Amino acid sequence: MDFSNEYYVRVYVRDTTTWKRLGWDGQAVLVQLLRKMDMAGVLDIEDMEPWEAVMLHCGAPKATAKAGVDACLREGCIIHRDAQLVAPRYLEAQGLLRSLVLRARAGLRAASLAVRVAILDRDGWACRYCGVDLREVAPNIDHVVPVSRGGTSVMENLAAACGPCNRSKGARTPAEWLL
Ligand SMILES: [Zn+2]
Repeated sequence: MDFSNEYYVRVYVRDTTTWKRLGWDGQAVLVQLLRKMDMAGVLDIEDMEPWEAVMLHCGAPKATAKAGVDACLREGCIIHRDAQLVAPRYLEAQGLLRSLVLRARAGLRAASLAVRVAILDRDGWACRYCGVDLREVAPNIDHVVPVSRGGTSVMENLAAACGPCNRSKGARTPAEWLL
């Protein structure tokens, strides 16, 4: 396969010098990474090392993943920051897509704000755990069954809470926390 003729590569890598400097490993990893990224050119890798994420997402062998992602980072084709791998020029090349993503995210924020208000209304603007009036303090929304324990963001699993209760409860269920 001629990677240099791949659609994403033609969009993203404009100067062939960069492309050649990537080497075989870097070229293979870059193409695979661009395929795994969202429309904004971002891949969440949480607390993984970049090469670990490449192994996981792209199925690359360890040596290829390490050499390839190192080349991409060195050439600035990929940036590692805030638990994400980001393809900065992917954004530039796709200005239209970026504005679509920003608009979608703004919509998401508005939707999540509406959900927060609905939960606070349902729970009477009081902390479900200690009863403090949440109009007096910064309201939090707690996952009753924590996300790390398989809880989801459905209304039934969300509760109005004050900051101290939310932080104290942490990743425990109410039963575990109240023991
Ligand atoms: Zn509380």
